[in-house]
Amino acid sequence: MKPAPFRLHRPDRVAEAIELLSVYGDEAKVLAGGQSLMPLLALRLARFEELVDLNRIGELSGISFDGEELVIGAMTRQADVEVAPEVRKSAPLLARALRYVGHFQIRNRGTVGGSLAHADPAAELPAVAMVLGAVVDVVGPRGARQVPAEELFAERWTTVLDVDELLVSVRIPVMPAEAGFAVEEVARRHGDFAMAGVACALSSGHGRVDRARIALFGVGRTPLLCPLVAKEMEGSLLDELHPAALDELAALATADLDPPDDVHATGSYRRAVAAHLVGRALINSLEELRRA
Ligand SMILES: Cc1cc2nc3c(=O)[nH]c(=O)nc-3n(C[C@H](O)[C@H](O)[C@H](O)COP(=O)(O)OP(=O)(O)OC[C@H]3O[C@@H](n4cnc5c(N)ncnc54)[C@H](O)[C@@H]3O)c2cc1C
Repeated sequence: MKPAPFRLHRPDRVAEAIELLSVYGDEAKVLAGGQSLMPLLALRLARFEELVDLNRIGELSGISFDGEELVIGAMTRQADVEVAPEVRKSAPLLARALRYVGHFQIRNRGTVGGSLAHADPAAELPAVAMVLGAVVDVVGPRGARQVPAEELFAERWTTVLDVDELLVSVRIPVMPAEAGFAVEEVARRHGDFAMAGVACALSSGHGRVDRARIALFGVGRTPLLCPLVAKEMEGSLLDELHPAALDELAALATADLDPPDDVHATGSYRRAVAAHLVGRALINSLEELRRA
């Protein structure tokens, strides 16, 4: 099928894009890499009169540092982020997670901002952003604001952004040297969205875990942080975290999960897989942490 007719606006600057979004309100939709939006339009699952294409806005692309934060422009292609040396060094979990996002053709067009704004609960980047303590920069007609990733995802495919706001960049705190990461998922085929997945970031000081962040994806209406596991782990000696303790933590992470059934998997299968993946992610990130 083909999309319903729309008008394409191609602003050169963020301010112009905001102006268009303010004028057209609900009738307008932002177009980034088009890897999620174009299929929805082509299948006529969504219909917008006005598309505001961000691809000419140079100020939305690029990777830089601002003090102790890595700043990635919303329109930076996923493929560029995946191979950027500064990302591999300062936010290795992000580079690793990107390998699971679709296929390289999709990542060549797909953007980091598009993935966060699309808010698919089975997507990798929203969970990774939560685990890394990322904050997004948002600009709209009422000014600029920052939204922590853990407050960004309101519902399935829905963020807290207003219709006339743009996500302009994501800020990720540079990870400490003593850290370990893991991203694990199960999908039917490589490149498919996850049926269940987990992202994990641990850091330590003086032989103890000082920060533990674990988030599940593909098992709820948004990515889900596991604060109880973090509370149990923080302050623990690395030597105390033996396999039996990790099994208990994996059970704790998934105790309250109630994933929905759908055509891809039943909720109970997703929950069982998620518990297994949390266990695996904890083992792998601890192993990396111990070597750091
Ligand atoms: C076959 C296939 C497999 C895929 N597999 C995966 C996968 O395994 N994991 C995964 O995470 N993703 C997957 N994707 C989706 C892919 O990652 C998309 O690139 C991503 O979801 C959306 O990014 P985009 O830049 O293409 O955004 P678009 O499709 O252009 O936009 C997506 C949505 O975000 C909004 N938006 C985009 N940018 C902004 C912005 N800066 N500010 C405000 N709103 C904005 C748009 O208005 C739209 O609603 C897959 C896609 C395909 C086609």
